[in-house]
Amino acid sequence: MSQFYDSVKERFIRYASVDTQSANGVSDTPTTRRQFDLAEMLRDELLEIGVSDVFLDERCCVVYGVIPSNTDSGMPIGYIAHMDTATEAPGGPVRPQVIEDYDGGDILLNSGKDIWMRRSDFPNLGMYVGEDLICSDGTTLLGGDDKASIASIMTMAEYYVSHPDVKHGTIAIAFTPDEEVGGLAKDLDLGRFAAKIAYTLDGDHLGYYEYETFNASRADITVKGRAVHPGTAKGIMVNSIDVAQEFLASLPAYEKPQYTDGREGFFYVTGISGSCEQTDLQVIIRDHDPVQFENREHYLAIVTEELNRKYPDGTVTLSITEQYRSMKEVIDRVPFMVDNLKRAISDCGIEPVCIPFRGGTDGSALSQRGLPCPNLSAGYENAHGRFEYVPIINMEKNVEILLRLNELYSAMDS
Ligand SMILES: [Zn+2]
Repeated sequence: MSQFYDSVKERFIRYASVDTQSANGVSDTPTTRRQFDLAEMLRDELLEIGVSDVFLDERCCVVYGVIPSNTDSGMPIGYIAHMDTATEAPGGPVRPQVIEDYDGGDILLNSGKDIWMRRSDFPNLGMYVGEDLICSDGTTLLGGDDKASIASIMTMAEYYVSHPDVKHGTIAIAFTPDEEVGGLAKDLDLGRFAAKIAYTLDGDHLGYYEYETFNASRADITVKGRAVHPGTAKGIMVNSIDVAQEFLASLPAYEKPQYTDGREGFFYVTGISGSCEQTDLQVIIRDHDPVQFENREHYLAIVTEELNRKYPDGTVTLSITEQYRSMKEVIDRVPFMVDNLKRAISDCGIEPVCIPFRGGTDGSALSQRGLPCPNLSAGYENAHGRFEYVPIINMEKNVEILLRLNELYSAMDS
């Protein structure tokens, strides 16, 4: 048990108890007002700790803070975590409970409702025998994603302010809303954020990190048909459903999410609706490799062209919208960010593991906007569901990793 145990535990329980679930399909910023409940709590705590330039942007629910440098050298570094929780399970009221000294068996989360977390369903529990775990009561998610990160970052901030003798460069902090619903930290004001490089803290297994995400776009395909009475349709009718089916049949059969992993890209048909006159298709395109990604977009253009050759011109229209780009190209220009992260993780006695992330992160968008932003895992398990839990030791370890990272940055020129 380290000096950070009580702080991360107490903080995490307090943050997790606030329902901050975001919402899909809402155009408000943030998507739910309840995210302000945590934002205000964090602002007040940052002030209380003695962090500088604390600011809550009331318009978009982003919290900022700065721990000013206390040394002549050092490169400013930032840390970002998200305040909202996932939409796939009930978001509140969250009633966190601590399972002390986990014995390796099944965990009774809720005796009234007879809800168990079974070791056989969640073998990852095996890694934490003897540890203290925080779980929900089985009726809601826990929100370790991403409040475990917030607890670690806040504990780090408190440590520096109460240990002014420990030398460090400028450390910027931001907490953002709506990550779970694709917010991409779009309202983070890079002018206000006090660092030019940062890490997001999000993700499950301790010691994992990412600096490569998917390239992502969305294709909207509209197929126009020609409807006539089916009895006299010969040679006249164009059934847009049939043409749409041809379009789908031309997609590579095994380049779909259910057949791919690692660095393999895919097409994913996310929507179809239509009648004889018009059919609309939605397809998302994902690939880590930027060339392959463009090839995929190009392939859809070829299919469109060929179908328009076969059917009356203008039968198929294709519109592609970029969603986010892999951060790799940006991070490759600042390789020390990955080197430092790897070193900090292993210096804390944890094996660093890097996997190309099969999705996007807020960091993908931030990197694109000019804030290079690899991701460090938060250390929660079973996210986005009722069986989510956070081993307290993972939050403690992440505080240590952050301190070590800051040490590495304090030795660098700004
Ligand atoms: Zn998250």
